[in-house]
Amino acid sequence: MYPVWKVFFVTKEMSKTPRIRIPPEVRIYVFQRDKYQCQSCGKTTVETNLSIDHIIPLARGGQNDISNLQTLCFTCNQQKTDKIDPRFRRYFQL
Ligand SMILES: [Zn+2]
Repeated sequence: MYPVWKVFFVTKEMSKTPRIRIPPEVRIYVFQRDKYQCQSCGKTTVETNLSIDHIIPLARGGQNDISNLQTLCFTCNQQKTDKIDPRFRRYFQL
């Protein structure tokens, strides 16, 4: 498997707090998976600053897991705050 998973889960297990700092390897993995595009407005890294977002916020029981991470630009991340994007709801049977 990808070494990035190993790094990620080791870090996760070592951390007692739910909100961990996302390791750089995982950030790169998510960025590459999402092709360096904001998953909300579609802007690329050339046009904007990208950040990693929890699809389901940690405050709502979301996990520090790659399947719960997506690429968002700074603007979309700011606008999202604590609500769940309805487009992702179906993946999680909420
Ligand atoms: Zn965006």
